[in-house]
Amino acid sequence: MTPQFLLVSFVLAALTLETTFSLQPDQQKVLLVSFDGFRWDYLYKVPTPHFHYIMQSGVHVKQVTNIFITKTYPNHYTLVTGLFAENHGIVANDMFDPILNKSFSLDDMNIYDSEFWEEATPIWVTNQREGHSSGAAMWPGADVKIHNSFPTHYMPYNESMSFEDRVAKIIEWFTSKEPINLGLLYWEEPDDMGHHLGPDSPLMGPVISDIDKKLGYLIQMLKNAKLWNTVNLIITSDHGMTQCSKQRVIELDQYVDKEHYTLIDRSPVAAILPKEGKFDEVYEALAHAHPNLTVYKKEEIPERWHYKYNNRIQPIIAVADEGWYILQNKSDDFLLGNHGYDNALAEMHPIFLAHGPAFRKNFTKEAMNSTDLYPMLCHLLNITAMPHNGSLRNVQDLLNSATPKAIPYTQSTTLLLGSDQPGEYEPEEAYPYFIGLALGSVIVIVFFAVFIKHLIQSQMPALQDLQAEIVQPLLQA
Ligand SMILES: [Zn+2]
Repeated sequence: MTPQFLLVSFVLAALTLETTFSLQPDQQKVLLVSFDGFRWDYLYKVPTPHFHYIMQSGVHVKQVTNIFITKTYPNHYTLVTGLFAENHGIVANDMFDPILNKSFSLDDMNIYDSEFWEEATPIWVTNQREGHSSGAAMWPGADVKIHNSFPTHYMPYNESMSFEDRVAKIIEWFTSKEPINLGLLYWEEPDDMGHHLGPDSPLMGPVISDIDKKLGYLIQMLKNAKLWNTVNLIITSDHGMTQCSKQRVIELDQYVDKEHYTLIDRSPVAAILPKEGKFDEVYEALAHAHPNLTVYKKEEIPERWHYKYNNRIQPIIAVADEGWYILQNKSDDFLLGNHGYDNALAEMHPIFLAHGPAFRKNFTKEAMNSTDLYPMLCHLLNITAMPHNGSLRNVQDLLNSATPKAIPYTQSTTLLLGSDQPGEYEPEEAYPYFIGLALGSVIVIVFFAVFIKHLIQSQMPALQDLQAEIVQPLLQA
């Protein structure tokens, strides 16, 4: 081996070590986009060329298991915290907290009450604590003051703001003098139309085509702003949608006296708070009321739902089978499409696609959990994750081989959240990172040692000549 060869090898090894373990600083950017209620298989309902363009130039996960209950607010908070509902505290779109003695409802200003949100810390807060800037365009909860913070840039929720205007804001924030590294973009469709038309309606075709056009617009705007190759774009959703029917309705008033309980949340998971002394009566009346309704005492709720250990989960929940609708009585609103059902049901699952410098190209993965997104976001942003219920290891294969830096170490032990029992947190192991680091370091040290040794050896004859030259005159003298 010549010294030149060794020098080149050393430099290459050092460079490999660098690119193997981190994204370039200007690539540590994420734009997380949620199209509310975009079911995983809408991609195949009508031609969706822009979604398919991302699948081919990036990654696609076929089945994403979201969290129970499969509703908008609980799942959006999971995407930005990595926590199950019982741990982040947004257990439904409509809640009652007996400790705070307060209600939470999407139709009410009390969603701006910080106390409901502070059982968790959303990623924008952590991102900003580490010195970065975040920007949220209508992301659920992003206009609420949480742990004394708002996103660096955000807008009060305004349903009528167009998709194009939301995109313009995101682009502005990514290209400003103090650019954001985290953007969050939310769009209400195809959820709204899915509820009104039902997902099986042929009229959903144009709705999905319109979303595909909107995605095309976003891609074009990112390209125009020269962000396409540096921003890691993640397209996902909160939940899917299933077809309902007036033939599949369960009316609670037919089985139990409505004076005996308060109905906190309705369909398809009825959250029932019995009046004092009426627990047994209400439970017995509902337990075998209807073959398509499963009724649980709070302590009997299946563990797999991670939906038990929080004060905001009511003493009794009644869960409808897929496609069945719970009403107090027929005067309640009925919608042709709904979600909120068991998160094991495929129809409740959202889409997941991603493109960017961190992601592999044309790669399809079978399954992931929506809780796994959060540690991946933290990895991409190079920030330290808060304790969470996900695992970066589960989704590491979505990332291209130049970026496995970082399984950022997470101090995930147990935390007492909400009420009676500790939540479960999966510890994120840092072994692969340290093994990689150790191996890389050994390679560099060995190359360096061999190089130095070779260099010294190659200089030896010259030194001997020099010594000879010095010695000779002395001898002559
Ligand atoms: Zn919805």
